[in-house]
Amino acid sequence: MGYSRQVYLQAENELNKRHSDAQRKAQRALDAFYAVCPEAETVRRRIASTASQAAKAVLRGTDVRASLETLKAENLTLQRHFAELLAAHGYTREDIEPQYVCKKCEDTGYVDGRMCACHRALLRQIAYENLNRISPLTLSTFADFSLDYYSDERVNGGRSDREQMRYILDYCRRYADNFSKDAGNLFFTGATGLGKTHLSLAIASAAIDKGYGVVYGTAQNFAISLERERFTRPEEGGDTLELLSDCDLLIIDDLGMEISSSYITAMIYNIIDTRIMLKKPTIISTNLSMQELEKRYNERFVSRVLGFYDRMPFRGKDIRAKRKFGSRPDGVR
Ligand SMILES: [Zn+2]
Repeated sequence: MGYSRQVYLQAENELNKRHSDAQRKAQRALDAFYAVCPEAETVRRRIASTASQAAKAVLRGTDVRASLETLKAENLTLQRHFAELLAAHGYTREDIEPQYVCKKCEDTGYVDGRMCACHRALLRQIAYENLNRISPLTLSTFADFSLDYYSDERVNGGRSDREQMRYILDYCRRYADNFSKDAGNLFFTGATGLGKTHLSLAIASAAIDKGYGVVYGTAQNFAISLERERFTRPEEGGDTLELLSDCDLLIIDDLGMEISSSYITAMIYNIIDTRIMLKKPTIISTNLSMQELEKRYNERFVSRVLGFYDRMPFRGKDIRAKRKFGSRPDGVR
């Protein structure tokens, strides 16, 4: 699973916190109970002592059975007495024993050396939250993508903007529904504010729900990280290049808006090319036309994209402006 090191560390911290919170809470309740009922502490100590005496009896080896029977009976009496004291002071066993979020692994994240389901769910949730934090919108869904903002006027008998966008929306929804490690690549083109980021994030959210490792960012953010890590040694961290090449789904928003340098251009080409070779899905969106892309990167880059990506030309007028100024969506009467 392609999560970043950061995500694993965050999950580990969260598990440690859950585990120690449960223990601390139980200890606090136990201390409070002993404060009002000192006898209970003595009983507890005697329970522990019967256990260690039993172990000693086994080691001694003489009259083991008889000694164990006596100790067991004594232990049971003490347990019962302890339970009575608890109840008499209004406490339950749950109060004084750690209540872990996950009973299976007791919030350690592992059962018999294998990652617990709660741990996997936590990794997924953290990746999702991180994604949500860096995205310009709250995480978008297909359900709140409205076609009403696109004109249904047909020009020269061709598809209207709305028909075109319905086609893209359906395509993206199917892509998300069937998402797997070898899903295809998508290339979103069109002006700013036509919903490219919205649909990218809706796909990202669906892929994360299915448990895939998704990395989402603008080309500019990736360029800054790559530039920063250019001269750091591997042991100092900096897994951006590895993560971008290796995650289950990479989404590069606003390609062409990043700082322009031959290093960054080469890196971006590298990442895209590596992912094509590894058959790992990538979604790219850009405001630039194919001609502008050719000028900015090169012909080879554009032919790679044309050959290995499904192109989705977004159409319409900036829907963000329409939302902001509260005009009625086209076609709503
Ligand atoms: Zn667990």
